[in-house]
Amino acid sequence: MRRKLVAGNWKMNGSLAANASLLAGIKSGLGTSNCDVAVCAPAPYFAQCQAELTGSAISLGAQDLSMHESGAYTGEVSAAMLLDFGCRYVIIGHSERRAYHGETNDVVAKKTVRALKSGLIPIVCVGETLAQREAGQTDRVVGEQIDAVLGSVNAGDLVSMVIAYEPVWAIGTGKTATPQMAQDVHAVLRSKLAAKDVAGASKVQILYGGSMKPDNAKELLMMPDIDGGLIGGAALKAADFLSIIHAA
Ligand code: PEP
Repeated sequence: MRRKLVAGNWKMNGSLAANASLLAGIKSGLGTSNCDVAVCAPAPYFAQCQAELTGSAISLGAQDLSMHESGAYTGEVSAAMLLDFGCRYVIIGHSERRAYHGETNDVVAKKTVRALKSGLIPIVCVGETLAQREAGQTDRVVGEQIDAVLGSVNAGDLVSMVIAYEPVWAIGTGKTATPQMAQDVHAVLRSKLAAKDVAGASKVQILYGGSMKPDNAKELLMMPDIDGGLIGGAALKAADFLSIIHAA
């Protein structure tokens, strides 16, 4: 039985004051949850989040990392820097990075390898656009995205990875994939993972992301291959984030 993971992606939101109040709210309402919980914060707030989260059951994650180890890469943040601040997870290949920063499948694969080599758990995002879904290309698109990553990692790495299926048309739009639509893609992803390593594939947490909210989380999280959520907008309100955690 896979544990569920609920990870918040704060994106470029927050301030010292807002983060303090959000984290206080999440910590006070968490209770004894039996799912994994993480918040993926903007890099300038890692020190604050690390201090606030120490001793809690909530892990810290980053939203990106450099594919390079160190050196002359202005503006980039290395895996070692994330580890210095206690990050456990790092989101890789979010559709906003693919769309606005030109991240290709090859870049996503290289960043995934960097995360794994450093001991960070990559949350590798895949997902199709609306045009691709309407053209019946969903399985091919997410298949190519996941294959690029699987071609660069070892079979034994699967157990150290998380995958997030995030249909681009559902991110931040209020539109959500139906549980069956999401389950179908998760099953495709699981079979791709199984082609690499059957035992490992059964252990990988595959998250759904795309307007997951308190009112739709339960149905999505009941599907057999949906092992949690990557949450954007709803992760910025303690009550909404907690309600999704409790649904998981
Ligand atoms: C995301 O950005 O990963 C996401 C799922 O956003 P939202 O929940 O706002 O759709």
